[in-house]
Amino acid sequence: MIEVRALTKTYGRDGVTAVDGIDFEVPTGTILTLLGPSGCGKTTSLRCVAGLEKADAGEISLFGDIVYSAEKNIALHPSKRQVGMIFQSYAIWPHMTVYQNVAYPLKSKKMPRDEIRRRAYEAIALVNLEGMEDRPAPKLSGGQQQRVALARAIAGDPKIFLLDEPLSNLDAKLREEMRGQIRILQRKLGITSLYVTHDQVEALSISDQIAIMDHGEILELGSPRDIYLHPRGLFAANFVGLTNVMSAKWLGSVDGNQARLETGFAPILCQQDPQDNFAAGEKTIVLIRPENVELSAQPHASGVNVWQGRVISSVFLGEYIDCTISCGDTIIRARVNPFLAVEDGTEVYLHAPPERCSLIPDRAM
Ligand code: ATP
Repeated sequence: MIEVRALTKTYGRDGVTAVDGIDFEVPTGTILTLLGPSGCGKTTSLRCVAGLEKADAGEISLFGDIVYSAEKNIALHPSKRQVGMIFQSYAIWPHMTVYQNVAYPLKSKKMPRDEIRRRAYEAIALVNLEGMEDRPAPKLSGGQQQRVALARAIAGDPKIFLLDEPLSNLDAKLREEMRGQIRILQRKLGITSLYVTHDQVEALSISDQIAIMDHGEILELGSPRDIYLHPRGLFAANFVGLTNVMSAKWLGSVDGNQARLETGFAPILCQQDPQDNFAAGEKTIVLIRPENVELSAQPHASGVNVWQGRVISSVFLGEYIDCTISCGDTIIRARVNPFLAVEDGTEVYLHAPPERCSLIPDRAM
């Protein structure tokens, strides 16, 4: 388990607070992703766990052992932390072959020859590069080079993987393939992993938990499902996927788990977390993902959350049609099935099932 407590890092004497007192845990064998925009402090946090950066305050423990504590004046050297690092830049040695790249760190640890061979060959096989042991590094594709970097990290038999934007240099198709492979490997080896990315799809597909970061802080932490389906704040809702955001007034609850709301354009019935308490008339925000907005020529039979609108634009994107619809002064985005015939300028009925609309307090902004 990785445990990070009240971690703070400021660069320069009066400089930027890159990481501002963050706390998180990565349970043994799982993968947690730090997700956020450029400059939010993801890499700095990861480098502090690796020991490549010394924090100003806080504590980091790896499997119960404190490796950094400002208070106790502990700062274990990176080589003593048993972490395997994988970077965006691959950082493999161009003048060496695949085998030499994987074996080199083991040689420098003065490991017996047979042990080096066994470990290097095993690691190379695990990343599906069997038979390429003698290939010079420059003769490898980007994806293969990143696999060499993975094999090198695995051969060191780390207790923890730290991955910093490992797929950013690969093209879209390869990125998708590699993220699947990393996930399979991570599960197979049961390696506790911390992953850094600004790519929401990567985070959703690879993680057990996602921590959404902004300005050095963790704003939300949860499973990919929770972060996407039930964001607790506007930043997470907007950063992970597209969402329709509507200001609303809370009118009352129905059966304890749904809320009646008034918006500028229509009344809305919406899912409500039973733990959230609102006062009558309180300002709230309704979030509706575009894929949860249905369009039809006739109003939905339920009569609930049914609105009339006009299609302003529709863009065919293969997997879905991205529609922009005006409902009075309110603009709503909908992603609908590509087989649906949607013409710009037509009148349509919209329907958003209440259980697929979520609600956050306005104060969460
Ligand atoms: P990116 O996705 O662009 O890599 P990030 O979320 O990983 O961004 P960090 O690299 O951790 O962000 O940077 C956090 C903040 O700290 C930024 O404002 C950055 O400019 C600053 N920073 C990072 N490294 C240094 C450094 N060595 N010296 C001074 N400031 C730094």
